Amino acid sequence: MENQRERVHVLVLTYPAQGHINPLLQFAKRLASKRVKATLATTHYTVKSIHATTVGVEPISDGFDEGGFKQAPSVKAYLESFKTVGSRTLAEVILKYKDSESPVNCIVYDSLLTWALDVARQFGIYGAAMMTNSASVCSMYWQINHGLLTLPVNQETVPLTLPGLPSLASSDLPSFLAQPASNPAYLAAILEQFGSLNKNDWVLCNSFEELEKEVFKSRSLLLRAMLGLWPLVMIGPLVPSAYLDQQIAGDSAYGANIWEPTGDRCMRWLATKPEKSVIYVSFGSMADIAANQVDEIARGLKASEKPFLWVVKENENKLPVEFVNSVGETGLVVRWCNQFEVLAHQAVGCFITHCGWNSILEGLSLGVAVVAVPQFSDQPTNAKFVEEVWEVGVRAKKNKAGIVTGEELNKCVNEVMDGERSQKIKRNVSKWREFAKKAVSAGGSSDKNIDEFVVRLLKADG
Ligand code: UDP
Repeated sequence: MENQRERVHVLVLTYPAQGHINPLLQFAKRLASKRVKATLATTHYTVKSIHATTVGVEPISDGFDEGGFKQAPSVKAYLESFKTVGSRTLAEVILKYKDSESPVNCIVYDSLLTWALDVARQFGIYGAAMMTNSASVCSMYWQINHGLLTLPVNQETVPLTLPGLPSLASSDLPSFLAQPASNPAYLAAILEQFGSLNKNDWVLCNSFEELEKEVFKSRSLLLRAMLGLWPLVMIGPLVPSAYLDQQIAGDSAYGANIWEPTGDRCMRWLATKPEKSVIYVSFGSMADIAANQVDEIARGLKASEKPFLWVVKENENKLPVEFVNSVGETGLVVRWCNQFEVLAHQAVGCFITHCGWNSILEGLSLGVAVVAVPQFSDQPTNAKFVEEVWEVGVRAKKNKAGIVTGEELNKCVNEVMDGERSQKIKRNVSKWREFAKKAVSAGGSSDKNIDEFVVRLLKADG
């Protein structure tokens, strides 16, 4: 069976956003480290951002080859175009390998792209959905999709109690559920994936069993119903594995940057700072931060009197001039960095984050305490777990205008880095780091699940 491994070929299809490319590319790399042939399919305009030596890369089209989503007239039009043109061009990739030594046996697709399962069926090959949210968030979407919860989920006064989840107020819910009108096209796409999940051969999830034990335990009640007879297969955290487990061959970075990172400069600057002294600030790849919030972050960082590394993306022009002029050596402001490498640096002691799922998994895997400043989507729910379930950080409170003030931010930073709660947070952070490492190390829960996935493909290959 060992010799057959190279003949098993998994095509991994990603949605073309940074927070989706990273985990799916990492999954492809994990398969490659197990000597399975893995190819990542992504759009023409994101293909050039991928640097992978162990994984093949194939471009497909979403119908907007120059700039993707930004060129589309609406989210709805974009998703429809991706379905039509993406199905056709994905099929062309499968046909390309049809008569080769390694025809494609399985498509692992970003769960948002439900049409990829139809392509897999058209060719009579396996299809697996990859969930890029936490299992807990998935379970909520599933309940909406199956009519167990109705929209909008408004729990202003009475917290919501759901199997396997902590009690949730409105401010803890994914924004698409609390304010369904905020982005109807994305909400429709998210919910659609839960209608057809049980048609998949696997439903993989970028999380690990120990992290979401409660929702996992409740699976007889919820997840099992959610997925028909197929269990949710936890295969994460899908973060660069070399840092976590030296035994797994792999890169120390994801190998995909849609924006050019400020490379060595960050590392050189971090090297000048004492251990666990630096605040790292990033709001991921999607969130658009209002100018008054940027202002307050600047005030909070200044007030903390701690060194900081702040990823501002295109918000650079929103920075207050006096702040920029006074940064000096205390702070480094960059447009984009290699976040995983930064978080892994010993100088970093605190992560102010928007709580995107990848950022959360990265912080947990590298043992960095969190100040949660969620913006939208699944981020409020992730923030709730950070503070109350995993207890690896605190959530900053918003004022009446929906802004986290500089004073509040400074208070939270002190709390996780030096305050009374910091000792407990530091202990928890180390604990989760070990659990994450164990899950992906040889014989760990996620590693075993990936092995089982591969063995089933090998058996089918005969
Ligand atoms: N990221 C990065 N450099 C940055 C900021 C973010 O490499 O300067 C990466 C980060 O490591 C993560 C991804 O971008 O893997 C963002 O995904 P996440 O789910 O955290 O947030 P999203 O961008 O989807 O809101």
